[in-house]
Amino acid sequence: MSSTPEPSAPSTDPPAFADLGLRPELLAALSALGYEEPTPIQREAIPPLLGGRDLLGQAATGTGKTAAFALPLLQRMPDDRPGGDPVALVLVPTRELAVQVSEAFHRYGKDLGTRVLPIYGGQPIGRQLRALDAGVDVVVATPGRALDHIARGTLRLGDLGTVVLDEADEMLDMGFAEDIEAILEHAPEQRQTVLFSATMPSRIDGMARAHLTDPVRILIAREQPVAGEAPRVRQSAYLVSRAHKPAALGRVLDVESPTAAIVFCRSREEVDRLTETMNGRGYRAEALHGGMSQEQRDRVMGRLRAGTADLLVATDVAARGLDVEQLSHVVNYDVPSAPESYVHRIGRVGRAGREGVAITLAEPREHRMLKTIERVTGQRITVDKIPTVADLRTRRLELTQAALRESLLEDDLEPFRAIVESLSDEFDLMEVALAAVRLAHEATLPGTADEEEEIPQVAVRPTREGRPGYEGRGDRRGGGRPRGAGTTQVFVGLGRRAGVRPQDLVGAITGETGVSGRDIGSIEIADRFSLVEVPVGVADAVIAGLRASTIKGRKATVRRDRDTDGGGERRYDGDRRERRDRSWQRP
Ligand code: AMP
Repeated sequence: MSSTPEPSAPSTDPPAFADLGLRPELLAALSALGYEEPTPIQREAIPPLLGGRDLLGQAATGTGKTAAFALPLLQRMPDDRPGGDPVALVLVPTRELAVQVSEAFHRYGKDLGTRVLPIYGGQPIGRQLRALDAGVDVVVATPGRALDHIARGTLRLGDLGTVVLDEADEMLDMGFAEDIEAILEHAPEQRQTVLFSATMPSRIDGMARAHLTDPVRILIAREQPVAGEAPRVRQSAYLVSRAHKPAALGRVLDVESPTAAIVFCRSREEVDRLTETMNGRGYRAEALHGGMSQEQRDRVMGRLRAGTADLLVATDVAARGLDVEQLSHVVNYDVPSAPESYVHRIGRVGRAGREGVAITLAEPREHRMLKTIERVTGQRITVDKIPTVADLRTRRLELTQAALRESLLEDDLEPFRAIVESLSDEFDLMEVALAAVRLAHEATLPGTADEEEEIPQVAVRPTREGRPGYEGRGDRRGGGRPRGAGTTQVFVGLGRRAGVRPQDLVGAITGETGVSGRDIGSIEIADRFSLVEVPVGVADAVIAGLRASTIKGRKATVRRDRDTDGGGERRYDGDRRERRDRSWQRP
């Protein structure tokens, strides 16, 4: 194992946050959060946004897009504010995102005293009224609720300097197009407009043309394999919620039993936290990040070399100069913010013809980023199920068996013969062997073995490109068609909020079209829309029938879902959309 600094070439070093022109208060906040360097989208977006340009950016969750627009917005806040009306409005598709984005503003802008308010449907309007009345600088809102407040005169857009449309494709999918148009009509013409979208279908292009002025365009490279980088690495990903990540990491490490592993985190803060957690769980983990002195880093590497540590938890920056020969596993604790960073990380294993393993723990909402990485690297990342407690037990027994076999083949067992002979006077030889295996097995178990908990599996909606982590409903139904084969999805612009249930959709379809209930596949009900899977051959009839009928007394927009009919993919946020299988329909 050796640690060789990479040849230093300052001119090609990626720019630091300080090089992007951010003010000291923001730099201090970023440093306190343990962000070591800007992500690619931040590098490209921050300077033009600081300069007041409009921007059209393709970026999915996980790329660091929130900071990319929030930091320039905070920096551009006017110093003396005459009134209390907001100077920036960020529109987002969901309440979860509204809360997340406001929290991000608070984190980055805590030394600037910026007043940020999330407003979304479902929250008591009175509280929002009082907060708006007291004066705010930035409003982060879902379009529907923003429009409510505009209509009441409680949200006044006359002072707006910047409007951000975040996850614009998602907002259009949720039927917010008209609301957004109406909101933008109330905003001053002289303003900065920023649009982020994970996909760039033509509707987004149209929106950008209508509302952005000479925008800077930042698009993620598509389908351009990273040249010359194809290490022999088995690549897999696990979908897991944030709360279960430490347990999932432990489980995966137990099952994989790496020789030595490096776990990549996004920030120093996370490195420290995870190192502590993993040590608490009985792993020998060492932290490595850019905030450590050279001496501290050398000590860590020494412990790894000496074999007194088996897990290195690091940021990209800290790991840049490292070359750890025995490394068998690279783990991405979060999805990296750009495909290039992924390639860089996994390039640390699979060297010199040895097989390496790269594992990514992704939150369901980061699923799209995995797809982007697959596309850019031209390599497949299989989405596996997190090993269950039963898988883990089986694997541990396998390891014990392998260790015993090795011992039988290699070790000098003579010193123990007397014990076996003496016990065999009293017990059957098989029983003696069983007791010995049990002791050997228990000796390998970590202290926490009895407390193993199942880690919940989370699903992602299948996209056109693959169906990770998803079991086709047809497989379970016997006689049913596996999902996707010859089927398409129909989008219906009414969902849970309109009280729509699966049976309402089935009723409308079978009542209007003569299509049998058996032919209808999975039904997903989201807040504002639903998706119904039907055989391609009857899709047009289903669409015509649904358009002609009413659902829950209302007319709905009905069309083919663009996921299954060309024109890009859509992220499935497991939190928000509820998937229903056919169990409700069985007799
Ligand atoms: P986003 O794509 O905006 O949802 O951000 C994804 C995650 O990355 C969030 O948890 C951020 O806190 C984190 N993050 C954003 N920028 C950076 C950075 N430059 N360094 C480390 N973490 C970051």
